[in-house]
Amino acid sequence: MIRRLMLPALVSLAFACQAIAQEGEFVRERALMIDTIRSYTALGLGYAGEEGIPENILEAMARTRRHLFVPRRFTSLAYADRPVPIENGQTISQPFIVALMTHLAGVEPGDTALEIGTGSGYQAAILAQLVEKVCTVEIVRPLGLAAANRLRDLGYDNVRVKVGDGYKGWPDCGPFDAVIVTAALGHVPPPLIEQLKVGGKLVMPVGPAGATQKLTIVEKTAPGQTKTRSVGPVRFVPFVRPRE
Ligand code: SAH
Repeated sequence: MIRRLMLPALVSLAFACQAIAQEGEFVRERALMIDTIRSYTALGLGYAGEEGIPENILEAMARTRRHLFVPRRFTSLAYADRPVPIENGQTISQPFIVALMTHLAGVEPGDTALEIGTGSGYQAAILAQLVEKVCTVEIVRPLGLAAANRLRDLGYDNVRVKVGDGYKGWPDCGPFDAVIVTAALGHVPPPLIEQLKVGGKLVMPVGPAGATQKLTIVEKTAPGQTKTRSVGPVRFVPFVRPRE
């Protein structure tokens, strides 16, 4: 009788331990990743400005299990401060760049944010913890579908994923307080500016594919008016333009 009662108890204890172990996995690696981001800004590198990367962004990144967003064979690289290959020849951005773009986009808790280039879904997962609603567009169907499943399984239920050409934005999901584009193009797509609210900011690598681009911030100051500045060189995968 005791044995019969103990077995289910032991099984559920084993499951609970496994869940706690998984939650606790890579905590140290994540803390080191955050230290690296802090040291960039402390050294005045990385264009984060006087105030550095805000704590709420670092906290979201310290909580997010980045190793679940990279292919299993790259688990050991998940928390290194470098981009990591994902499927379909794409990459998940370097953690510092994720922090920086999120900061430069000036996201606030009530915001609706648009991301172009879902990739693994990592940037969307960070945004999901900082704003009200995230809309993200991915042109490579298998990547978009995998990211949508991953984000759902991990409980990021304020993220909507669409498979399609991000050049056109996502008018039905907007207008947006912040837009983050994670692929490089020689110009900012006008529809993305149109879908930006007055006072909103867009952050994007502007420049040629296969070379360095300028990390550019476009602020919509009034209907039809923008202010643009760029903070420094970055290197992103190309923004794909399908033939119409
Ligand atoms: N933000 C991602 C990294 C993205 S890499 C992450 O956190 O993992 C850039 C992504 O942009 C790639 O997945 C690529 O397929 C996608 N992309 C390129 N051109 C696009 C377009 N026109 N519309 C939408 N996505 C595009």
